[in-house]
Amino acid sequence: MRINTGETKMQVGVDQQFHFITSARQLDIDEKTIEISDDIVVDGTISYTGRLFQVSGNISFHAERVCDRCLVNYTEHMAIPFDEVYQEDTAEKKEEDAIEFEGTFIDLTMVVREMLIMADFSKALCSEDCKGLCLKCGTNLNEQDCQCDRHIIDPRLAALQSFFDNDKD
Ligand SMILES: [Zn+2]
Ligand SMILES: [Zn+2]
Repeated sequence: MRINTGETKMQVGVDQQFHFITSARQLDIDEKTIEISDDIVVDGTISYTGRLFQVSGNISFHAERVCDRCLVNYTEHMAIPFDEVYQEDTAEKKEEDAIEFEGTFIDLTMVVREMLIMADFSKALCSEDCKGLCLKCGTNLNEQDCQCDRHIIDPRLAALQSFFDNDKD
């Protein structure tokens, strides 16, 4: 995933597109982090400010996931945006937040790998309004309804309820 900065540098302020295809294996991403089912697409733009190279892009892929609510396997399309600033190692004025690179190529591998490892994949929902499983009989409520009374009473309300019940006698 190497971007040749030669052309970018000649046209200050002009966005140049980049497009790469990689894989979890090439990036050495552990399957425990997230199970990526096919290619990882990295695309975006790079531009030169006259001093710094601004890179902004998107990492997109499909992941095999298990829904937190209904426990069904599903494929989720995920997109992780990223923004980085790069600077040539020969630059006179050093920018604190910039990543230094040598020669004419910027290699995105490390950044993309880091973004994938640091991303928060804790929430998995097959759909925003997944109804989940019935806590009593285990029926997947997205597929069918069950006859269980799923009315859950807050313990504090339950206490209040029994207070009123007692009051009746
Ligand atoms: Zn679900
Ligand atoms: Zn049920």
